Amino acid sequence: MKIAIASGKGGTGKTTLSTNLAAALAHDGRRVQYLDCDVEEPNGHIFLKPQWDSTEDVTVGVPQVDLDTCTGCGKCGQLCQYSAIVAVKGAALVFEQLCHSCGGCMAVCPTGAIREVERKIGVAQYGGSNGVAAGQGVLDIGAIQSPAVIRHLKKGMRDRGIVILDAPPGTSCPVIEAIRDCDFVLLVTEPTPFGLNDLELAVGMVRQLGIPFAVAVNRCDMGDDGVVRYCRGENIPILLEIPNDRRIAEAYSRGDMMVNVMTAYRQKFIRLFESIVSLQIAGKETA
Ligand code: SF4
Ligand code: SF4
Repeated sequence: MKIAIASGKGGTGKTTLSTNLAAALAHDGRRVQYLDCDVEEPNGHIFLKPQWDSTEDVTVGVPQVDLDTCTGCGKCGQLCQYSAIVAVKGAALVFEQLCHSCGGCMAVCPTGAIREVERKIGVAQYGGSNGVAAGQGVLDIGAIQSPAVIRHLKKGMRDRGIVILDAPPGTSCPVIEAIRDCDFVLLVTEPTPFGLNDLELAVGMVRQLGIPFAVAVNRCDMGDDGVVRYCRGENIPILLEIPNDRRIAEAYSRGDMMVNVMTAYRQKFIRLFESIVSLQIAGKETA
C-alpha cells in the first residue's frame, strides 16, 4: 500500500501528517516505510530522527562537447528548450545546471561532437528509527532536477508493507513523480481561501492521474468553511481534521510528534489509515 501525502501548497502540515502516520503505524506493529520526496527541503528526519545507514549519489547525464569536432553550427542550441547549450563564437557551450538531460542536443548534432557524462545532482539516503524504515532524497544546491532524485529514491521503495511518501508541495513535475504510481493520495490543506485554491488545483491533478484520494484538514478550527463546503460539493471525503492546538505546535517546534505527546492521536492515525484502505479498495472496485 503506497500512500502519498501531498498538498497544493507548502506549510499545510504535510510532513506533520506523514511522519505521525508512519510513527503511529509502526507503534501499532505494522511494517512501514517513510520516504521524504520533498527533496528540495526534506525535513521528515527532524521528527523521525532516523540513522542513515546508506547514502547513494544521484546522477544524471549531461552533454559534454568535443571542441575539436564541434563546428559551431548552433543546431544544439536551437533545439534546447532550456538554453542549457548555446553556440558562442564558433563552439557550443554547456550550462550543466540548466540541463534537463533530454538527450536532444546529442541527437541533432551533425558532427557527433556531443557525448553524455554523469553529473551528481543529489543523494538518496536510507535508514530508520523506532520501527520506521526511512528514506530521503536531497537535491544539491544549484541543481534543478528534483524528479530525478525522487525517481532514484523511489527505487528503494519496499514492495511489502505500507509506504508513506511525503510529496513535495505544489502540482508540478516533482509532485507527479512522487505520487504517480501510488495507491492513494491524501491531500492536506487548511481552511483558508489560499488553502482552498491550492486544494482545487491538487484535486485536478490527482483526478487527471486517476488515483483515489481524500482530504485532511489541518488547523481545522481556524479560517472559514470554504474547504468543507467544497469537499461536500465535490463528494470528496475528509478523513482527518487536526485542530490548531498549542501542544501540537510546541511539539513541532521541538522536533517531536503529536503521537508521542498526545497518545490519543495514535488511534486517530490508525483510523485514518483504515479509512484510506477502505477507500482505496472501493476505488479499485469502481475502476
Ligand atoms: S540534453 Fe536536452 S536539456 Fe540538456 S542541453 Fe541537451 S537539449 Fe538541452
Ligand atoms: S550541434 Fe554539434 S557541431 Fe553544432 S554547435 Fe552544437 S555541438 Fe557544435
